[in-house]
Amino acid sequence: MKGRVDLHTHSNASDGTCTPAEVVRAAAAAGLAGLSLTDHDTLDGIAEARAESEAAGVRWMTGIELSTHWGELSSVHLLGYCVDEVRDTALLAACAQLRGSRRERGAAMVEKLNRAGVDLRMQEIEAEAGRAAIGRPHVARALVAGGWAASLPEAFDLWLVPGRPGYVAQENLETGAAVELLRACGAVPVLAHPQALRLEPGGLDAMVRALAAHGLCGIEAYWSQQDAPAVALCEVLAQRYDLIATGGSDFHGENKPNRIGEAAGGLKLDLGLMDALEAAVTR
Ligand code: AMP
Ligand code: FE
Ligand code: FE
Ligand code: ZN
Repeated sequence: MKGRVDLHTHSNASDGTCTPAEVVRAAAAAGLAGLSLTDHDTLDGIAEARAESEAAGVRWMTGIELSTHWGELSSVHLLGYCVDEVRDTALLAACAQLRGSRRERGAAMVEKLNRAGVDLRMQEIEAEAGRAAIGRPHVARALVAGGWAASLPEAFDLWLVPGRPGYVAQENLETGAAVELLRACGAVPVLAHPQALRLEPGGLDAMVRALAAHGLCGIEAYWSQQDAPAVALCEVLAQRYDLIATGGSDFHGENKPNRIGEAAGGLKLDLGLMDALEAAVTR
């Protein structure tokens, strides 16, 4: 059997708690043969993780997870594989713009929370974010640190989800445009964690069909939190629209319980999947 791989992980370059090098070392310690770091809307962790992968003997694939919207659906995540953190200037420009709008949104969340009686300052959010672009997980950590919630899930439920006092929508790319942006770089776009979209099977089918017309190359059938019926549906859609079925843990360090290397359909996630994704590169 070929070695196991994990193609969906996060470091503290976005909203994970491990450094990029620590993610690689965790992958090596878990016995993984291949890894992709897929931080949200940034390539900042790539150079460090690639260097560590070479040292650790773990096969490397450069990745990103773009936050997009599809009509009214506001958090459609798109994985991009085989991106280039130096040459893909259009992608880097999009990331830089998102980083700026995330800062503004962070300030807007603080303002809304202040109005709701929560005494929290932007500096506390920035301290939680460190090098990363500001996201709700950083606000959640600051809320827990300040005693405004007992846990990260509670911080989301009480303050940070739609309808709650601290929620502010994040501006981002339209999903079809993001697919095309990645393809224009020569990279490989994959629809992340389809079950998290909470669509009816017919709705997911229609969305995947439309995205395939934009150039979608894969669907994350083997996401760690996806149940058996959702995996089966993704496999059907992969067949129907000629997409690569990918997977990964969505490891976030201490910000989520997901363990590195653990995904649905684990036996299917081997080095052959990395070969298939690399074969779809057009640069
Ligand atoms: P943002 O892009 O700033 O809106 O933050 C989205 C991130 O927050 C996701 O990628 C998850 O890592 C995390 N997240 C979203 N909803 C929850 C929740 N209910 N509990 C814990 N983490 C969440
Ligand atoms: Fe995340
Ligand atoms: Fe995601
Ligand atoms: Zn993710």
